[in-house]
Amino acid sequence: MYSAAILTVGDEILRGRILDRNFQWLSRQLFNMGIEVVYHETVPDKLENLVTAFKNGVLQADIIITTGGLGPTPDDLTRNALTNFLNVEMIYHKEIEEKNRIRFSTRGLVMPENNRVQCYVPENGIAVNNPEGTAPGIFYKQNKTLILLLPGPPVEMEVVFENAKSLIKKKLSSTQKYIFTFKTIGVPESILETWISKLPIPKGVEISYYPSLKGVDIVASAGHHSQISEINGILDKLLNKYTFTRTESERIEEVIGKILKDRRETLSVSESCTGGMLASRIVDIPGSSNYFFGGIVSYSNEVKKKFLGVSQNNLIKYGAVSPKVAVQMAIGIKKNIKSTYSIGITGIAGPDGGTPEKPVGLVYISLATPDKVYVRKYTFVGSRNTIRTRTTTAALNMLWVILKWGDIINYKFEDGGKFISISD
Ligand code: ATP
Ligand code: MG
Repeated sequence: MYSAAILTVGDEILRGRILDRNFQWLSRQLFNMGIEVVYHETVPDKLENLVTAFKNGVLQADIIITTGGLGPTPDDLTRNALTNFLNVEMIYHKEIEEKNRIRFSTRGLVMPENNRVQCYVPENGIAVNNPEGTAPGIFYKQNKTLILLLPGPPVEMEVVFENAKSLIKKKLSSTQKYIFTFKTIGVPESILETWISKLPIPKGVEISYYPSLKGVDIVASAGHHSQISEINGILDKLLNKYTFTRTESERIEEVIGKILKDRRETLSVSESCTGGMLASRIVDIPGSSNYFFGGIVSYSNEVKKKFLGVSQNNLIKYGAVSPKVAVQMAIGIKKNIKSTYSIGITGIAGPDGGTPEKPVGLVYISLATPDKVYVRKYTFVGSRNTIRTRTTTAALNMLWVILKWGDIINYKFEDGGKFISISD
């Protein structure tokens, strides 16, 4: 297995002004590429510290990746530090300057002269395209060590790293990645762990759990391919029902979007306690306009009545947080917008407003399909934001189950919710 050292550069990290997100993102990417991160250092914006950091990195790892300090200002020193460290010449690249001049002029600006430092690349180094900014990444191979300099702003860092991935892979031809992922939804981590602990896991296989409010990712890694294919089969049997994707970067919203788009079906939502959070998760996906019509944030009873046709009678008799109202919300938006599916959410996100009968965390989620309407009751635990996020996840889970498995009533939910009969 190859190893990597990550050097994140910047006084602002050491002063606590920003969180070192780059380190986290990169280490996750590298792990998924089968590269082990063995060293991390946060380096001040000082030349001698940077040169020392390069030396430390080379001692520790096969690949050194830096982020930050590629900008045009005097405190951006990573490029200089690399040249010092390698003791090589810098070459001016006219084509980078051309690209940057066009970038500025498109915005109606003239490229400042200090920007020219970003056009220098060490001799025998490769400039890696940065479509989000003016500082290209720099890729360099020194003996057996690969060095990659990335810009600091996360959007730039991520895209330049993506562009450099193939260069890294080419040089590390023998890198094998014996890693795979199950992204699950609707099953708590402790239940997953209980199930998996009973499985015959081959020796040398490591199973990791990555829980979040949006699901639990299960990652298996091993040193040999044979072990991985064995455990893959075993886990697949167990987790298939709850696995919405095997692709590390894919989200449930995306998976749902693909299905809806393929089937030319559509979705609308009406949200009370989530206040648009579900809609926001859905429209986070590029292309969601193909299947998502929109929704109503029906926070007050007035909006529930006026725009969704929720009845005054139900509001008085059962209250706004009730299965009947959730159902009327889902049906109301579906009728108004004429979507294939719709979701209605009502609940108590807290921290105030709970009663013994209706505690904080009580949420009803209704799903209207072309021929049926369902409603499930949940009691979530946690802060206001946790409850709201868990609610959106549960709603997406219900929708995914019906889309993926066709049948929701006989699906074996493990999410603590239960169906409420709405016949009366
Ligand atoms: P610029 O051209 O913007 O100066 P740069 O490559 O020189 O980019 P820095 O000056 O080190 O990078 O950082 C620019 C900004 O990028 C920081 O102010 C910060 O917002 C963000 N940034 C830098 N490093 C990190 C990091 N490790 N994690 C998260 N954000 C970071
Ligand atoms: Mg900078």
